[in-house]
Formats: sequence, C-alpha cells, structure tokens
Amino acid sequence: MMLKVNKLSAGYSNAVLAEVDLNVERGEILGIIGPNGSGKSTLLKTISAILKPMGGVVYLDGKNVHKLKPSELAKELAITITERSDVGFLTGFEVVSLGRYPYTDAFGRLSERDVEIVMDSLRLVSAEYLADKPFSEMSDGEKQKIMIARALAQQPKALLLDEPTSFLDAKHRVEIPLILRRIANEKGIAIVLTTHDIELAIRICDRIVMVKSGRIVAEG
Ligand code: ADP
Ligand code: MG
Repeated sequence: MMLKVNKLSAGYSNAVLAEVDLNVERGEILGIIGPNGSGKSTLLKTISAILKPMGGVVYLDGKNVHKLKPSELAKELAITITERSDVGFLTGFEVVSLGRYPYTDAFGRLSERDVEIVMDSLRLVSAEYLADKPFSEMSDGEKQKIMIARALAQQPKALLLDEPTSFLDAKHRVEIPLILRRIANEKGIAIVLTTHDIELAIRICDRIVMVKSGRIVAEG
C-alpha cells in the first residue's frame, strides 16, 4: 500500500477527525466527498503534515510521514495549495521549478536533469505553452495546471489535491480530471483529492469515501 492512514485523529483546539482509516495504492485515485465543514481539508492537511495529528499514523511507502524532516517529506508527498500564493511575478516555468527545491543546492540552481523534470511536469499537465507566461496573467484553470506541475516536479509518491476543480471554467473542469488520471496511470502516483463535485469523483476516482463530521460514513 503506497499511502496508509491508520486511525488518524486531528483538529485544532477541538478534534475534527476521529480515527480515520484510508488506503491508497500506487496509481490509484481516491476521492473524498462530504459536506462543507466535514473535515476534508483538515484530513489532507494532516496527511501532509501541515497539521500535527492528535492520534494515529500516516504511512507513505512504509514511512511515518510525521517523523520525516520537511525536506525529506517534500520528496515523498506533494499537496497543491489553492490559497493565493505569492508567486505572481514568476513565469510558469519558474513556479514549476520551485518544486525542485528539495533536490537543488543551497542556491537553488537547476541542473540539466532538473530542467528536464520541470519540462516533463509541464508536459504531463499539457502546459508547455505556459512556460514563459507570468503566473499572475494566467486563468484560474491555467494556474491550477501549473500548481499541479509544480507538485509533480517534487517527484512525489503521493499527491494530495484539495478541491482541484473548484472555481474553474468548463474547459478546465473537464481537462484537469483527465490530467490527474494520466498522472496516476503514467507515474504510478497515489492521488487523494477532495471534491464536492460528485460527478467528477465518479468519473475519475477508483474509489470514493464519504466524510461526515470527521468520520468516514461510506466507502465504495
Ligand atoms: P471541509 O474541508 O470538509 O469543508 P474543514 O476541514 O475545512 O472542512 O473544516 C472542518 C472543521 O474544522 C470545521 O468545523 C471548521 O470550522 C474547522 N476548522 C477548519 N480550519 C480551522 C482552523 N484553522 N482553526 C480552527 N478550526 C478550523
Ligand atoms: Mg475544504
């Protein structure tokens, strides 16, 4: 099992998640659906070690993610953050290059191999045409593609996406899910995404779990 979530409890001052169990295999897409406030984002933040768990363990390829150093974890797991990031003045290529930072030297210099990986990441999300475009001038869908490419440039074993199709135009609402399917198939990455778009979940996810009040209430 690539990603294994074992009796994970987490939250803020109050517990939000209660003993959540999840398993995701290589190349599999797991969808997490559930009403607003049910704990979907909290779950992804805890799996990615942005939040500390109150109990339970998350294993990625057999390693406890909460015991890894941030620089080690960044080589194993990537999360796309939808919150406005402060990279507007950078080009698409430069934003994706940031994903190489766990691998580069203290000066952030890119080797030829790093550049190849950045270009391959752009190709996987069909965004070569955005390489020279300033991030601030991109549409929301284009920004989402670049953020996914940046995550891919980390060469993670697992990729977490919080509401990857929210706020997108119709074209990208169709295209982004197909891109995620391609990433899972071609790279064997384990993908976990949250969505309130049940149609999307049914279309591309191998499995769907439903979260309600911080618990998994249905699976299938
Ligand atoms: P979802 O993503 O399913 O909409 P969240 O994980 O964002 O749900 O929220 C789950 C619960 O945790 C909600 O009750 C929410 O109010 C609370 N919550 C979310 N973020 C914070 C925070 N930073 N501090 C305190 N409580 C939070
Ligand atoms: Mg959320």
